Amino acid sequence: MLLKQFSNDKTIKNTFVLHDKHLIEGVLIPTTERMTACVSSQVGCSLTCKFCATGYMERKRNLNADEIYDQVVLIDKQAKEHYGIPLSNIVYMGMGEPLLNYNNVLKSIDRITAEDGLNMSYKRITVSTAGIAKMIKKLGDDDVKFNLALSLHAANDVKRNEIMPINEQNSLAALAEALKYYFAKTKNPVTYEYIIFNNFNDEIEDAKELARFCKHVPCKVNIIEYNPIAFADFTNAAVDKTEIFANYLKKQGIITNIRRSRGKDIDAACGQLAVKEENK
Ligand code: SF4
Repeated sequence: MLLKQFSNDKTIKNTFVLHDKHLIEGVLIPTTERMTACVSSQVGCSLTCKFCATGYMERKRNLNADEIYDQVVLIDKQAKEHYGIPLSNIVYMGMGEPLLNYNNVLKSIDRITAEDGLNMSYKRITVSTAGIAKMIKKLGDDDVKFNLALSLHAANDVKRNEIMPINEQNSLAALAEALKYYFAKTKNPVTYEYIIFNNFNDEIEDAKELARFCKHVPCKVNIIEYNPIAFADFTNAAVDKTEIFANYLKKQGIITNIRRSRGKDIDAACGQLAVKEENK
C-alpha cells in the first residue's frame, strides 16, 4: 500500500501500487450499519463519463482477479484494525467498468464468497455498471447471485448521451430490454444510482422520466449527492430540490434513498477516484 488518507467522517482511501507500478484506489466506508469496501476493477477507465475523475484517466489495463481480491482482503484487515469490525459489504464502484473486466470480476467474487476465502454472502456484494446491455444479459445467462446496480444518472437519452458517451451504443431502450432479460433469469431486483446535478437532472420532469424507467423491472433508487471534481463544471443539486425529487419517486411507490457523500475531503467519494501517474 502506498498511501492511506483518513477523512473527517472516518472514510479511509487507500492507494495501492501494483506489480507494474500502476496505482489504483480502494475505499473503506464505515457507517453505523455497514462496513463497506469500494474496490477498483481496472487501472483507469475507457468510458469517459463526464462527471467522473477516473473517466479523465486513460484505461491502462484490467485488474486480475487476485488484484481485485487483495484489495478486499486488505480493506477487511483495515476495517478490523481501525474499527474492530470486518467488512459487511463490498461494492464494485471504484475505478473502472466492472463488466468490461467480466471474468476477473466474477472470479474475484468467487474468492470473496468461497469458504476458504472471505466466506461472504453474495447478497453483500454489488457490482455497478455504467450500462453495457450485452454484458447485463450475460449476467442473466450466468444467473449471478450478487446485486447489480446501474449508474443511470438520467432517464432520457439526450441527457444521458451528454454525460455518459457509453449511452450512444447502449440506449435506455437497450438497457431496459437487457434488464428485463436479466431479471427474468435471476429474479434479482436492480438498484439505479442517480447522481443529482444542479440544473441538469434535478427537475420534476427528470423524476417523472426516472419513475417511468423504474417500471421495467423491480428496483430501488439511490439518489447520490455529487462531489465536484476539478475537470468538470457540474455542481451538486440543492438540498430542497433533492428532497422534492426523492419525495416524488416515493409517492410513485419507488423505494428511494438519498445517499450523502462520504470521504469528499480526501477525494474518496463517488466519482472522485483518480490517482495520477505522476504520483508514482
Ligand atoms: S463513472 Fe465508472 S464507468 Fe464512468 S468513467 Fe467513472 S469509473 Fe468509468
